[in-house]
Amino acid sequence: KKITIAIDGLSSCGKSTMAKDLARTIGYTYIDTGAMYRAVTLYALRNGLFNADGSIKADELRACMGDIDISFKFNHSTGRPDTYLNGELVEGDIRTMEVSAHVSPIATLPFVRHALVASQQAMGRGGGVVMDGRDIGTTVFPHAELKVFVTASAEVRAKRRYDELCAKGMEANYADILKNVEERDYIDSHREVSPLRKADDALELDNSYMTIEQQKEWLMQKYEE
Ligand code: C5P
Repeated sequence: KKITIAIDGLSSCGKSTMAKDLARTIGYTYIDTGAMYRAVTLYALRNGLFNADGSIKADELRACMGDIDISFKFNHSTGRPDTYLNGELVEGDIRTMEVSAHVSPIATLPFVRHALVASQQAMGRGGGVVMDGRDIGTTVFPHAELKVFVTASAEVRAKRRYDELCAKGMEANYADILKNVEERDYIDSHREVSPLRKADDALELDNSYMTIEQQKEWLMQKYEE
């Protein structure tokens, strides 16, 4: 029987690497829900839906939600799904620091969460998915058979994110990244609708001092148990 696997945790803790590897190994579909919040944020940035002070033109965004179509297509060369916004490949554009700096406020909006959660539930219907995010084990799939909550120190996470952006040839500044990671954790865990928290029945993993290989093995073992 194909189960549902929920991987939640702090920003840039390596959830997606673990989730993606597990999905590939066991033949499940991997869904990156953070990419969906990032795509809505990119749409809002491109369409002038932020005020100069950084606040969101929420009523205007609400009126646009029906025009925002987010989809994924598996990329065989990278081994992971690419994100599309209204048919356009935006996988690179949603990973910039500008999007990272604006995404958590977007993710506090109840109407955004409502729309994305419904679409995530539709994508995961029937099981056979590994979904990563902040509220998968608490809200999207509260009955997921396997739930993991991943943490690591903010410094370790910022360093990993920095290395990742550098490897992709993207702009990166360690101090800015550390500040962004801490800000997102704060906003994500203090918002009113489905704040970031460990589900009571989730297994906790602090991967600060683990290699990617060790994390993969740990997750595979939990899956097999
Ligand atoms: O996972 P990633 O870091 O790409 O997510 C970007 C942001 O999207 C998070 O900081 C959070 O604000 C939001 N998010 C969320 N719920 C999810 C996934 C992401 O609120 N399930």
